Amino acid sequence: SREIRLKARPVGMPKDSDFELATVELPAPGDGEIQVKNLWMSVDPYMRGRMYDRPSYVPPFQLGEALQGGAIGEVIASNDPDFKPGDIVSSMFGWREAYNAHPKSLAAAGMGAITKIETHGIPPQAFLGVAGMPGMTAYAGLLRVAALKDGDVVFVSAAAGAVGSIVCQIAKLKGHTVIGSAGGPEKVAFLKSIGVDHVIDYKATPDVVAELAKVAPKGIDVYFENVGGVHLEAAINSARPFARFALCGMISQYNETSKPEGPSNIILAVGKSLRLEGFIVSNHFDLYPQFAKDMAEWIKAGKITWKETVEDGVDRAPNAFLKLFTGENLGKMLVKLG
Ligand code: NDP
Repeated sequence: SREIRLKARPVGMPKDSDFELATVELPAPGDGEIQVKNLWMSVDPYMRGRMYDRPSYVPPFQLGEALQGGAIGEVIASNDPDFKPGDIVSSMFGWREAYNAHPKSLAAAGMGAITKIETHGIPPQAFLGVAGMPGMTAYAGLLRVAALKDGDVVFVSAAAGAVGSIVCQIAKLKGHTVIGSAGGPEKVAFLKSIGVDHVIDYKATPDVVAELAKVAPKGIDVYFENVGGVHLEAAINSARPFARFALCGMISQYNETSKPEGPSNIILAVGKSLRLEGFIVSNHFDLYPQFAKDMAEWIKAGKITWKETVEDGVDRAPNAFLKLFTGENLGKMLVKLG
């Protein structure tokens, strides 16, 4: 079985030489263990943070070890009575083609548990995107952290990505005016096709402060922040009094080697009584059952749709990861395995 290991801690934009492809011999599963063949793995922007050796809300990746991340696989062999061959499971054993794991001890440790998935007709890889962590991030961030309420005008950055595209659609199905920002004509067309009212192509018109002021002349009430820098500055500039900002991520800074770009206008948050609140999806898993129910209904009713960008083979995983930072993904970036 092949796996991708972290070879060097990236400085700035990660390079091919920061990763290493290795082959390991997988023994038959031991007592209480299962063997899983991965079908899909996820690459996510937060993984860049785990490549730094520093304390954070998730521990850093270790040099010379296989990376970790969300994966969907099929049970091949099982010595755990709760799993049988053919079961589709979700795990944090991504970046590898197959693995052995002990579900009971993982569950007891309280992290990275292996969960059986009832797909209910939804493609399994959607549980790494719209029906999984990114979808849940959109749901919790918009409905709980930003506390979306009637009449809100919503601004979303990285709007054509895994999280952003779901934020836009939840806000639209609840009847809101939505403004999305993304890079390039293909993403603009996609956002229009899902009903986004105004799209800013920040690559074509980099003065996002002026563009947002133009398309939201009366201002915005909610900002779903995925990018940082000029996008945050624009949102602060256009915020109405008492606007709420859900700070989900700031991808424009993840590879920065020098002091990142402002917002230089944060003082406006005082007079406008803004609320800026960061959040981590794992602190909102109490919402998961409600999310799963709502999302299944929305998908079934055709109210939520999604895009995937797929790379083939574990050896392509570093490349897939890099595409998140060059914006070469439309919707959820995935790696197909097996
Ligand atoms: P996406 O699918 O949105 O992919 C990343 C996108 O970010 C790219 O497609 C690109 O789109 C955009 N981007 C990359 N670099 C820049 C840049 N310098 N300036 C502007 N845009 C840039 O990824 P996700 O949906 O998985 O994640 C989106 C955000 O949500 C990230 O910030 C991530 O860290 C955060 N997140 C936070 C979680 C939490 O618990 N708080 C959980 C999950 C995600 P474009 O072509 O438009 O530039």
